[in-house]
Amino acid sequence: ETQNVTFKRVLLKISGEALMGDQGFGLHPPTVQRIAREVKTVHDLGVEICMVIGGGNIFRGLSGSAQGMERTTADYMGMLATIMNALAMQSALEELGVFTRVISAIRMDEVAEPYIRRRAVRHLEKKRVCIFAAGTGNPYFTTDTAATLRANEMNCEAIFKGTKVDGVYDKDPVKHSDAKRYDVVTYDEVLQKHLGVMDASAIALARDNDLPIIVFSLDEPGGFRGILAGQGTYTRVH
Ligand code: UDP
Repeated sequence: ETQNVTFKRVLLKISGEALMGDQGFGLHPPTVQRIAREVKTVHDLGVEICMVIGGGNIFRGLSGSAQGMERTTADYMGMLATIMNALAMQSALEELGVFTRVISAIRMDEVAEPYIRRRAVRHLEKKRVCIFAAGTGNPYFTTDTAATLRANEMNCEAIFKGTKVDGVYDKDPVKHSDAKRYDVVTYDEVLQKHLGVMDASAIALARDNDLPIIVFSLDEPGGFRGILAGQGTYTRVH
């Protein structure tokens, strides 16, 4: 049924919060394992997979700086949080027999590979899942921007943004029962209407390089694989 997957290489972006399950903070290993199984079903189809995981379940630079921390230091702490999440995902994937590399934008040689573009491409060709950690390596950015950057560098055909809801809505569907989902929406509409898919720099970077963003629900079992085959509900930003 889902054999008609036409994608060769994609990037899956998930927020750190997707890994905390019902807890208010941190990592929930069963949830990490569930998402790893979703990734494996797509990997099994031969699709080359990049991943970027946020760090918001552990630390966000903005909340640190709102409480008086120096902003760039707080941002580096946020980047370090993404490394912990990446290692948790690596462990869960390898437990399933999927080979991976954690590739960090901040050097941490004992823990993760440094980011070297050609080397990362080679890993993908060898069907290793590349988990890009530490964001862009720069403060004042987000992991959404990091995802867009790496997807462009790796020549991914699209970014798949797994969220709590099955697409982009005109208002928050959790709070408003009359919220309407878009099937497709343009980058400029997302920016003008502040639709909150990703931050503005990530959207602009995707737009300027014609990189489609597919927003789908990560809670739907089999969802990631289904969405890759064009099934289920999702929003395509392009
Ligand atoms: N961060 C950063 N530069 C980057 C990516 C991330 O400084 O290129 C920091 C930033 O402080 C951010 C934190 O890492 O708040 C966690 O990332 P993000 O908020 O994107 O995580 P998510 O919301 O996806 O869980």
